[in-house]
Amino acid sequence: MPEYRTDLVTGRTVIIAEGRAERPQEFSARALPVDVSRCPFCPGHESETPGEVFALRLDRSRADSPGWRIRAVPNKYPAVVTNSGAYGLHEVLIESARHITLTSELSDDELADVFRATIVRMRAMYADPRIEHVLPFKNVGAAAGASLAHLHSQLIGQSIVPPDIRAELDGAARYRAERGTCVWCDLVERERLAAERVVLESPRFLAFCPFASRFAYETWIVPREHACRFEANDEAGLVELARVSRSVVARLESILDDPAYNYVIHSAPRGVRDDGSYHWQLQILPRSTGIAGFELGAGMFINPVSPETAARRLVGGPEA
Ligand SMILES: [Zn+2]
Ligand SMILES: [Zn+2]
Repeated sequence: MPEYRTDLVTGRTVIIAEGRAERPQEFSARALPVDVSRCPFCPGHESETPGEVFALRLDRSRADSPGWRIRAVPNKYPAVVTNSGAYGLHEVLIESARHITLTSELSDDELADVFRATIVRMRAMYADPRIEHVLPFKNVGAAAGASLAHLHSQLIGQSIVPPDIRAELDGAARYRAERGTCVWCDLVERERLAAERVVLESPRFLAFCPFASRFAYETWIVPREHACRFEANDEAGLVELARVSRSVVARLESILDDPAYNYVIHSAPRGVRDDGSYHWQLQILPRSTGIAGFELGAGMFINPVSPETAARRLVGGPEA
């Protein structure tokens, strides 16, 4: 039977309507045409992107020439710019010199490098005093908004705090005022004890399908120890995050047959003091049926796969 569920942090209500899972579902990310010879993100094509602002190079190769392993460039078609009212910075992080399309094709070490590079670029964006918030995110597959298949993620730094982050900050502050604790710290403990939505547990992280999942197989990776900023992770934290996220993504890829998905890293905006309320997290959002009329009209999501069902299937998935 369909049921309403409300997210503990934001108060957002969703409809879990499991019967609808019988409908045909299309998660596939394979719709993007791949013409490697014309891929602007492949080595040798550096001149087809704006000049690099960062690259991980292990040799002495020159900027904007082959020899890089990870490369960050301004987005050629930015959503925000520094000379307009919509003030901001928009960059693309090319995650591998190999023309690969799946996150699981990166090794754990390579994914850790991607997270390290993400932190380098977040810090560089925050060096601009007008940038209030930086959102790292990834689109995989056309259904998730990707226009190029070559594995990449993006960062958008803005002079405003986006509404979803604001809703989390407000919800967390409300919860802390009422109970004196961090809502995410409590959530992690509750999910660990309940165990019915847990996908994977490591010493530092818990991966689980949230109670009020908006999307089928939505999975959050949350640090078990309180921390408000992703970019404050130490080396051991990044290495473990890479291992956990790669394992979760590999399970999603296996069960959903290489799905289109987004991931977003929610981290505290500039100036937010760590008063024990905001808590960073990485959200993985598989995209199946997409956002339709009801979602746009009501501002509510209908999810055809309960997080309990999703977690059960993901636990059974391959390790990597
Ligand atoms: Zn390529
Ligand atoms: Zn916390």
